[in-house]
Amino acid sequence: MINLKNQHEMLLMQKAGELTALALHKAGEAIAPGISTWDISRIAEEFILSAGAKPTFKGYGGFPAAACVSVNEEVIHGIPSKKRIINEGDIVSIDVGAFKDGFTGDSAYTFACKEISDDAKRLLEATKGALDAGIAMAYAGNRIGDISAAVEEYAASRGFGVVRDYTGHGVGRHLHEDPEVPNFGRAGHGPRLMPGMCIAIEPMITQGSWQVRVLSNDWTVVTADNSLSAHFEHSVGITKAEPIILTRLA
Ligand code: MG
Ligand code: MG
Repeated sequence: MINLKNQHEMLLMQKAGELTALALHKAGEAIAPGISTWDISRIAEEFILSAGAKPTFKGYGGFPAAACVSVNEEVIHGIPSKKRIINEGDIVSIDVGAFKDGFTGDSAYTFACKEISDDAKRLLEATKGALDAGIAMAYAGNRIGDISAAVEEYAASRGFGVVRDYTGHGVGRHLHEDPEVPNFGRAGHGPRLMPGMCIAIEPMITQGSWQVRVLSNDWTVVTADNSLSAHFEHSVGITKAEPIILTRLA
């Protein structure tokens, strides 16, 4: 069942979203050659705890850390490790959520470590643009398929692969709620968007094929062809007018 938030709950979602955005920002700021993915997650976790919130991901389905940190060909669910050191030219996707007063945010951003290739820059721009294209369709009266089709069209028309095996989702009291928000689909199809719905829109875009596989740690998702991948995500509150981007930095 789709969970609609009342005005008070929407305010709590905004607070959780704001903390999520700040955690993501602080972790992203720390990216530099020589830092480990474990330290990146630790910085996000320390901020979340210091704000009186909880890292939503830690323990979720057994995930061991506060943030997913996915490097280069890793798409999502990278497990932070002290042995995984970031180098100049890497692209680093951080995905994090802060749980506060009964509600959670969920947001992701792919950061560049210093100078990256022009191809990697184009991938990041296309993924960010695909998220924006999806958000632009996120208002009451539209359907989930309108978001899905806009995301897919934006990325695919620029020659990028659109990951199909993982999707966006409703978000609120739980990290993953109904409905699913696929990054591909047909406009005019799927559940109708209603005021008070909160959804996470999260294109996962690749330089090559859309196909992915899961590493033997049972978590980390990588591109099947080892091409680079990027991931941008916002939690968004649906209204009759402009969507509220809950995880945008104020
Ligand atoms: Mg996420
Ligand atoms: Mg999500």
